[in-house]
Amino acid sequence: MATQRELWDWDRQPRLAARRVSPCWLVAAVVALVVVAGQVMAARPDAVRAYRYLQSVCRLGPRPSGSRGMQAQQRLLSAHFARFGARVTRQSFDRPDPRNGKPVRMTNLVVSWHPRRTTRILLCCHYDTRPFPDLDPVNPRGRFLGANDGGSGVALLMELAHHMPSLDTRVGVDFVFFDAEEYLFEQGGRTLGKFFHGSTHFATQYRDRQPTHKYVAGVLLDMVGDRDLQIFVEKKSLYYAPKVVDGIWRTARRLKVSQFKDRPRPKHDVEDDHVPLNRIAKIPTCDLIDFDYPYWHTTRDNVRACSGTSLAAVGRVVLGWLESVPASGP
Ligand code: ZN
Repeated sequence: MATQRELWDWDRQPRLAARRVSPCWLVAAVVALVVVAGQVMAARPDAVRAYRYLQSVCRLGPRPSGSRGMQAQQRLLSAHFARFGARVTRQSFDRPDPRNGKPVRMTNLVVSWHPRRTTRILLCCHYDTRPFPDLDPVNPRGRFLGANDGGSGVALLMELAHHMPSLDTRVGVDFVFFDAEEYLFEQGGRTLGKFFHGSTHFATQYRDRQPTHKYVAGVLLDMVGDRDLQIFVEKKSLYYAPKVVDGIWRTARRLKVSQFKDRPRPKHDVEDDHVPLNRIAKIPTCDLIDFDYPYWHTTRDNVRACSGTSLAAVGRVVLGWLESVPASGP
């Protein structure tokens, strides 16, 4: 027979036991919370949605500089990014059509997140498509949609708009869409026109106008939608922007994104929009590009050659890297 006190003690044992294990539960709960919060914080771009954006951009048809397709794309993008609270501005200028000398209106679109922050990062792509698929073995004067070459960077940045408002960054971020990356025409065995009108104009304005903000790093996204995506370190990026390259590849390793390939030496040496950014604007800019694309400048550069998984993989690395950049820059 037990006394009242013994009964009380006996009755209390399980509760004491429970209280003894409660710190364990507390630790487990905290760990679970951190894991859940980590999953929420490590932003994951949506592959299906990114692919839909690529389809909607390509549905506009060819988008060379000055075309109706380009104008429709500008309206689509302005509305899209404004919907997520970004500030959208246009940087317009004229360059001659190399076939007849007539001026063509060209426009870089600038989408700003946290516009008051003076330390900024540039995420950019070209959004024009080459006027003709000059390397197409059957129809080099055919219709060029540029799903990967022109569309993929756009679709990826459209998807990233979903994540930017809540992204844990200490820097401001500008998405810049460059016009006229390749406003070129093959005629009589000659190439008429120039590369990089938009990025050259942007870089020159940045250098000459003494802006109140400073770009501490840039990432160029070009041909990042290939179904069989493999991104190698690019030679000029490593030369001009080694810290950016290092940060991006370190992030890819941390997130186990296998589309970023480790190589002791760069695979390609590419002329792209990052060249004027590095050389004229002195913004250390890395080019993320899969230059092993069999449909480059052909009519088969269409959405079927691309994948949302590839876009999302690149987006995941870029967002992870953005979160890791300190307020002073990489
Ligand atoms: Zn191209």
